[in-house]
Amino acid sequence: MDIVTGFMIWAAEATTLGALLCSRWFYERQRFYLSWGGGFILHGTGVALVALRGDLPEFISIEVANTVALSGVGLWIAGMMQFDNRRVDPYAAIPALLWIAGMFLNPVRETFAYRVALFHGAASIGFMMLIGVMLASREARKSHTRRVFAAFIGIQVVSGIIVAALALTKQPSTFASDTKSLWLLISAALCFVAALMCGAKLINERSEAKLKLLAQTDPLTGVLNRRGLIDEFERMRKAAPPHVPMLALIHFDLDGFKQINDRYGHQAGDEVLIAFARIGAASQRGRGSFGRMGGEEFASIVHVRDMIEAASLSEAIRTTLKHQLIKAGEHQIICTVSSGIAIAETKDADLDMLLSAADRALYVAKTSGRDRTAISTDGDVSIIPSVDHSEEPAAIVDISRQIAALKRIAAIAK
Ligand code: GH3
Ligand code: MG
Ligand code: MG
Repeated sequence: MDIVTGFMIWAAEATTLGALLCSRWFYERQRFYLSWGGGFILHGTGVALVALRGDLPEFISIEVANTVALSGVGLWIAGMMQFDNRRVDPYAAIPALLWIAGMFLNPVRETFAYRVALFHGAASIGFMMLIGVMLASREARKSHTRRVFAAFIGIQVVSGIIVAALALTKQPSTFASDTKSLWLLISAALCFVAALMCGAKLINERSEAKLKLLAQTDPLTGVLNRRGLIDEFERMRKAAPPHVPMLALIHFDLDGFKQINDRYGHQAGDEVLIAFARIGAASQRGRGSFGRMGGEEFASIVHVRDMIEAASLSEAIRTTLKHQLIKAGEHQIICTVSSGIAIAETKDADLDMLLSAADRALYVAKTSGRDRTAISTDGDVSIIPSVDHSEEPAAIVDISRQIAALKRIAAIAK
């Protein structure tokens, strides 16, 4: 087999694969399918045009053909960015632009060996960029599939550089006189197939992750559902950040929610749930997770240094809600929430125990007037003293009194 036949086989395979990937787009409407599919079609078409040298005008089989083939590499890079939901950066066009720039240099355009070196050099740079995009985030570098994928593309980079170097040192004048590169291209093609299998696995893993996310998400509010919160609890129990030894569970229950439904309608009730979920999720700031346990009950699981931190988070959520006018159609609704907190050392935190302790605290918060936070400490429940419940005018209530009171509760619990 000669190198030209090899090119034609590769071109046929690449365009078929490209068509298959594009057809996936019709089902899933994910842009990366179009980019990757288009990349294979362009790459295959370019390689076929190169192989038809002699039957086609040189401008088509040299300048145009290689530009098309390298644009394919650019689309693979763009597709990888889309796969990771990133904005497509224009630097994906660098491989094709390098080739076009080279064509403006007469010695490069007119010398076969230089052209081979330029093409493979530009393709290798493109493959390096692809690896860079693929392993850009810390999360991505943790993925075994991505690392293997990147390694196979790395082999492409190395063989591209060797082909370019051989072309520069041996100065072949046609493909027929370039027999060493044939073996390198075959081994590179095998690695390419392996890389493709990694690509397919990556797509599978992405679909599975999406399904898992769907199964863990509450469709109304978009926050975690009960299942998601339980999984999150398990994850957080195993991963305590240094110097943050406690795990807190805050159980929220909206006050008089049935009345809101009865008075303003179920739709308005839903708006209140959505508004509260937004407040709860936004207040986590990466420290913990927030989700809907069901109905008008929500929970937050959060790593904290002590109960004061857990109480502050709960109070921040409670006061933000009560000061928010929630718009629902023509209504503007004010809603309050009660919460119960339970806290344990992360290493021996048990979900059932935390849940029942937080529930006990929540019950006390409800029975002592609602719109407040209660905290469970060693079987005892304390109401968090709060500035907005004080009989004194807010201006003369010192916030430090509230903190001092929280510290007293913390001291009792020790
Ligand atoms: P409390 O202050 O004691 O918590 O009283 P409450 O009215 O909030 O509690 P209750 O458990 O009596 O009522 C909860 C209501 O939440 C009853 C149910 O119809 C309503 N609910 C549950 N899920 C949804 C939902 O998805 N959307 C809406 N709009 N209402 C819901
Ligand atoms: Mg309830
Ligand atoms: Mg309620």
